Amino acid sequence: MNSSIFHTICNCRICGKNNLNNILDLGEQPPANSLRDNPEEPLPSIPLSIVLCDNCKTVQLKETVKPEYLFSKYVWVTGTSSTAQTYSSFFCDEALKRLRNRELFITEVASNDGTFLQRFKKRGHKVLGIDPAKNIAQIALDKGIPTKVEFFDKKVAESIVSEYGKADCIFARNVIPHVDNIHGVISGMAHCIKDEGIAIVEFHYGENIMSELQYDSIYHEHLFYFSFQSLCFLLRKHGLSAFDYNVSPISGGSIALYCSKNKRPETSKLKEKLEKDENSGLSLEKNWLKFSEKCFDHKNKLIEVIKLHSGNGTKMIGYGASARSSTLLNFCGINHRHLVCIADGNPIKQGKFTAGTDIPIVSPDEAFVKKPDTVLLLAWNFEDEIVKTIKEKHQFRGKVILPFPNDPQIIQL
Ligand SMILES: [Zn+2]
Repeated sequence: MNSSIFHTICNCRICGKNNLNNILDLGEQPPANSLRDNPEEPLPSIPLSIVLCDNCKTVQLKETVKPEYLFSKYVWVTGTSSTAQTYSSFFCDEALKRLRNRELFITEVASNDGTFLQRFKKRGHKVLGIDPAKNIAQIALDKGIPTKVEFFDKKVAESIVSEYGKADCIFARNVIPHVDNIHGVISGMAHCIKDEGIAIVEFHYGENIMSELQYDSIYHEHLFYFSFQSLCFLLRKHGLSAFDYNVSPISGGSIALYCSKNKRPETSKLKEKLEKDENSGLSLEKNWLKFSEKCFDHKNKLIEVIKLHSGNGTKMIGYGASARSSTLLNFCGINHRHLVCIADGNPIKQGKFTAGTDIPIVSPDEAFVKKPDTVLLLAWNFEDEIVKTIKEKHQFRGKVILPFPNDPQIIQL
């Protein structure tokens, strides 16, 4: 079963060269989102490791899992996070600032439940979403957001253009790092926009991963770990040039990069960032090997903290059954023996068991009825939002373990 759902690459997905250097091995793990109704169901175990291309400097996974296996029943629903809700409004304002026409046509690649497109629609613009997950696209359709259920690529881009005309703006939030057919997607995006249009690519910045030790952001769905340098190299191949960027509050430091076909002048903010990026050492193998060493140190430290706060009559729960939490739990060997359950607000996940660690996922209400002593904040990148909720709504008083950034921290509520 395993060999039929993944393959190991020999050549860089971006430049095609074969000088790939191993930089971190997180062991064999099941795909993060393969949550199960029954923990007895068999699970594939697939190597999870990253390599650095010596030629174009793109950090990427060594294994590709078939997208049909990973994404056809995606379980992340954008609208369930209030941080994402707030951010969608900021995102819309920032995009509109950079567009001149009054009535715009806006498209989104992997539009999920339509949370972001809805902002544009409310401002009177024409929108179109494209998303491969039928169950999530249906939520968008129910909200009145036109959505095509497809994997976006050059062909789909061509059919969109012939049906609707070219777009003023196309955006892809945290999707480019996830696609194996990356050249098909970027060339499709470039094809979709008018000459004066813009493309916005949001990605989880490799610098945050390296400097804050965010190895939990490495999972099978996440194929690329870009720097500005490596992403711009890819975009240029398809005729897109970056001219500005913004920092997004999602994923512990994502970047929204603004690109155009008709070269717009680079803002001084971007120029400064590009310079910093070049000096950050993200393209150096030795820095990534140091990162790898630190990941194993972190694992030992976290296990110690977990052991100290679970078992012997004390109850620990997790909060946030995200893809990221799956890597952390599997890599550190934290399972149903340590965590009574994981609280998650997404109803699609509730009632299921985590992949490889067999922890039941329940609603936050159900989790706090169990009167936990400690909460392991797996969705630590939403710390402010979650700490506020568990304190005010669930009246939780006890310890919260923050696994990242860097060393584990404990806060007392
Ligand atoms: Zn390369």
